[in-house]
Amino acid sequence: VTVAFVRETARGERRAALSPETCKKLLALKVRVLIERGAGVPASFPDDSYVGAEISDDRARLIADADVLVCVQAPANAELATMKAGAVLMGLLAPHADAARVDALVAGKVSAFPLERLPRTTRAQAMDVLSSQAGMAGYKAVLIAAQLAPRFFPMLTTAAGTIRPSKVLIVGAGVAGLQAIATARRLGAQVEGFDVRPETREQIESLGGKFLDLGVSAAGEGGYARQLTDEERAEQQRRLAEHLKNVDVIVTTAAVPGRPAPKIITAAMVSGMKPGSVIVDLAAETGGNCELTQPGETIDSAGVTVAGPLNLASMGALHASEMYARNVYNFLSLMIDKEGALVLDWDDELIAKTCLAHAGEKKA
Ligand code: NAD
Repeated sequence: VTVAFVRETARGERRAALSPETCKKLLALKVRVLIERGAGVPASFPDDSYVGAEISDDRARLIADADVLVCVQAPANAELATMKAGAVLMGLLAPHADAARVDALVAGKVSAFPLERLPRTTRAQAMDVLSSQAGMAGYKAVLIAAQLAPRFFPMLTTAAGTIRPSKVLIVGAGVAGLQAIATARRLGAQVEGFDVRPETREQIESLGGKFLDLGVSAAGEGGYARQLTDEERAEQQRRLAEHLKNVDVIVTTAAVPGRPAPKIITAAMVSGMKPGSVIVDLAAETGGNCELTQPGETIDSAGVTVAGPLNLASMGALHASEMYARNVYNFLSLMIDKEGALVLDWDDELIAKTCLAHAGEKKA
């Protein structure tokens, strides 16, 4: 089979779906690897680091010839329409965000695997792009907060007096939130975290954070959060507003699968915060956890900085790509037999459940 890897075209996307390491591993599976010239460069992987791959300038031919096209974000719909019937496309295809893309893939009889759909089972962990990319996002969100804050994070004892450590609150303690807690701790801040899933208390504490108890518990299905009831939300907000008056930095990471980000930090809460406070809203991409967040912008609200950076994982493109590419390799290797041929085993739940479109039909 021929696996193709082309340049990412989404604005600001620096990550790569194939790394020199996974290229080597694919070649060992008797796969032919085709690379568009420069495709790995934004992730700091020069063409000559992909030893054994064929490099081409003919992007259109690569897309049209691919048996498997790997990507981070999907190429344009017009390009997807040129893929072969029966070819496999895998990446963060964001099917909810673009119905026309789904239509193009169905019409072209492409076998489409949006990696967001991977079941989050133990076996799928090595393929879990949401987790690997969330780790980088949580890390970068804290570094941005530290950069924007007019304070030190650590406690300092100096000849000019003592500086108290910053109080940092991480909202949402999933994969990104836990990495944010760990990062803020390494910078020496006093860190609190909260989440609606009660099991996060132990995880937050094991990273040296304090669990902020807002009296709301909303564990949902499959280890995810469920949406809060109106009463639960009101109670959470009342307690949080009081607490935020003494917080210097907030990093928000809360999400509910398939829904817009829950609005947790209201404009009124922000106006109650001290000047010089900083909010970094990692959920900006899905609308933000803070009412004032403007996706892609950093604003000032009466002395409080509110940042809504987008695609944080791309800011750490090299390591994010190494992890993403391993996730892709691990998933793709389920589809390649001993002779290097493409075989889709529909009895494998990871393949069956991740698939969005196949042979001209859309799956639920
Ligand atoms: P996510 O990105 O969907 O959500 C981030 C966090 O926000 C979650 O912890 C969620 O509980 C929290 N949240 C939602 N609404 C909130 C609210 N109103 N207030 C405060 N917090 C709120 O989640 P994620 O990071 O992708 O993963 C969540 C869970 O799934 C974790 O337990 C993780 O360990 C688990 N997981 C399992 C696997 C696996 O077994 N393969 C892989 C990845 C994640």
